[in-house]
Amino acid sequence: MRRCLIRVTGIVQGVGFRPFVYGLATDLRLAGHVGNDVNGVFIEVQGGAVDSFLMRLVSQAPPLAVIEDVDVTEQPPKPETEFRIVDSGGTGSGPVTSIPPDTAVCDDCLAEMRDPEDRRFGYPFIACTNCGPRYTMVTGLPYDRANTSMAAFPLCVDCAAEYTDPRSRRYHAQPTACAVCGPRLSMPVAEVVAALQAGRIVAIKGIGGYHLACDATNPAAVARLRERKQRGDKPFAVMVSDLATAAEVAVVDGCAPDLLHPASPIVVMPSRQSPAGVAPGTDTLAVMLAYTPLHHLLFDGGAPRVLVMTSGNLSDEPICIDAEEAQDRLAGIADVFCHHDRRIQVACDDSVIGLGPVRRSRGFVPRPLRLPVSVPPIVAVGGEIKATAAVATGDRVWLTQHIGDVENLQTLQMLERSVDILCDLQRVTPELIVSDTHPGYLSRAWAADVAAARGIDHVTVQHHHAHLASLLAEHRVPADVPVLGVVFDGTGYGTDGTIWGGELLLGSYDAVARVGHLAPIQLPGGDAAVKFPGRVALAHLHAAGIAWQGCVPFEEMPSIQSRLLASMLATGSHCTPTTSMGRLFDAVAAILGVRQAVDYEAQAAIELEAMAMVAPAWPVEVRCEDEIIIDPSGWLTLAVLATDPRRAAYAFHAAVADAVVLAARSARERNAVAMVGLTGGVFANRILSRLCREGLVAAGFEVLVHQLVPCNDGGLALGQVCIAGARD
Ligand code: ZN
Ligand code: ZN
Ligand code: FE
Repeated sequence: MRRCLIRVTGIVQGVGFRPFVYGLATDLRLAGHVGNDVNGVFIEVQGGAVDSFLMRLVSQAPPLAVIEDVDVTEQPPKPETEFRIVDSGGTGSGPVTSIPPDTAVCDDCLAEMRDPEDRRFGYPFIACTNCGPRYTMVTGLPYDRANTSMAAFPLCVDCAAEYTDPRSRRYHAQPTACAVCGPRLSMPVAEVVAALQAGRIVAIKGIGGYHLACDATNPAAVARLRERKQRGDKPFAVMVSDLATAAEVAVVDGCAPDLLHPASPIVVMPSRQSPAGVAPGTDTLAVMLAYTPLHHLLFDGGAPRVLVMTSGNLSDEPICIDAEEAQDRLAGIADVFCHHDRRIQVACDDSVIGLGPVRRSRGFVPRPLRLPVSVPPIVAVGGEIKATAAVATGDRVWLTQHIGDVENLQTLQMLERSVDILCDLQRVTPELIVSDTHPGYLSRAWAADVAAARGIDHVTVQHHHAHLASLLAEHRVPADVPVLGVVFDGTGYGTDGTIWGGELLLGSYDAVARVGHLAPIQLPGGDAAVKFPGRVALAHLHAAGIAWQGCVPFEEMPSIQSRLLASMLATGSHCTPTTSMGRLFDAVAAILGVRQAVDYEAQAAIELEAMAMVAPAWPVEVRCEDEIIIDPSGWLTLAVLATDPRRAAYAFHAAVADAVVLAARSARERNAVAMVGLTGGVFANRILSRLCREGLVAAGFEVLVHQLVPCNDGGLALGQVCIAGARD
């Protein structure tokens, strides 16, 4: 007879792991017990079939479980014949188990919710051990009902019976409840449906915050929401009930697995029939499937088949999570409020998947990532735009949910709170705080304050180095393998105090060399020019020595403005040098007449990509001096002369890709490098990414692109952790 003590770590709590173990052990007639503590699940088993048990433990684990490690030690047998589930242990030490992410309602729960005979028929908060909220309702560890928002809802007799029955799908399912004992909506589902049908805007409390919903096929409703939310032209996401409906509005093709992922993210796909006004100027549509029981009840009850579902916030503010806050902040936007009384502990926006991850949030957070290097306890605060922070220790890192643009007090507070929660849950006491080097970022100032208050070190990391390190980290590239990073984005603070964003960096986590970049231009007004591609265009034309007369941005600009711009450029006053690739895309878009001012970040580039029609690449000028310089001036001349903007748009994309390949070849001639990483927000561009990848692969390079964290600034914190850890 053999007896083993087995420790399982990973995401093994709140996912039905203990009843699974119980079932398995009982099937195999093993004796012993299973329990859990903050470190994970511990099992003692004895009997004849221990080997078989160990094999099936990993291969047949429940769907939401993520097993990271199984540690087995032999023990002397005990006089025992039964298998039991024992109570959660107290507070252990060492690495802490992870809380599972929030998960879309499962098919079993949906079937029960639609079954008139079931006691949860029509119940909008049905959940089980395989589905429902998790991270957004946790208040502490271990992950037990008492440490969640559900503590406020004592189980009724029926629910308690399921909760304590290891054979039930609701055994220790922390979010489980029913209409008798559980959370309630503030209004009947039928009234929400009626309001949506009538074209009204409804604030609906969900898993990680409020949504603002309206009928996507009602242009007046969409326009009203756009105006009230001060949304400008920025595309809205839509929600549909199922894959078939998604396929009516978008080209789903290979995106079905993303749509059906338990995280139920927003997936950006080529649009088929974009409802009017939902995503103006783009050729894509952001779609998610219904993921809470309430969403399904709305569609079942006759809600419009395509709903706009956008975060319940004013632009630039975090998403609202409680009723008072929503009622107050969304007062001018929503006509109707549908609240519920399950408290949301931490705001969590919907995740977004485009070419790769665009926003890693609800459904993915707080799943840890494994680091390629071992780091001391670190907090990294990311950048400014689309910020996420990270908490790391050893070879684990937990990224926070999407926090937003840390440009005001509300988002800074959300950053602070999110970091605190993760540090608490994962029991990390930071010894080091990392931020971007940008002297103007609020997050940097906050990091400095916290470090000073706690008497720990604050280090800063260059923006584009962090982009590259995040890409290396997710591919677990070893620290001694140099990679050429093609880091293209809008804005990042360079080591020389200028604005970088078209960088070729060679190195790894500990250090990089800037081996090349886009030729710099003078940008009048610095970062403020982001909103005005027309001004950027004139600055680029000035740098290229091309006359402004006759080109679109000049003709459309009030002459007083262009005169001011000319004098700024002539004297260099209030001008910042920049190598930003994002700004070059803006400039070309403006010259081709796409737009002279934008409502949201990267709008001009997105619309430029959307209109591109296949054409041969423009010629490329890459100079190899001390550094490799990509000179765009020839492209600007061709943009001014272009007669067919759609073909010119493509020719420009193709030329940038050609330049990348040429630059990479030059870098290879000078230094031994076989791997190229594409990172930075510009690589959200599908055409550019595809062409760069194809060209680099054809040139014999191994190419890395993002699959786990965003290529935009949402990925910075991961890179910051690795760089600071490597330096330590
Ligand atoms: Zn379920
Ligand atoms: Zn109940
Ligand atoms: Fe960036």
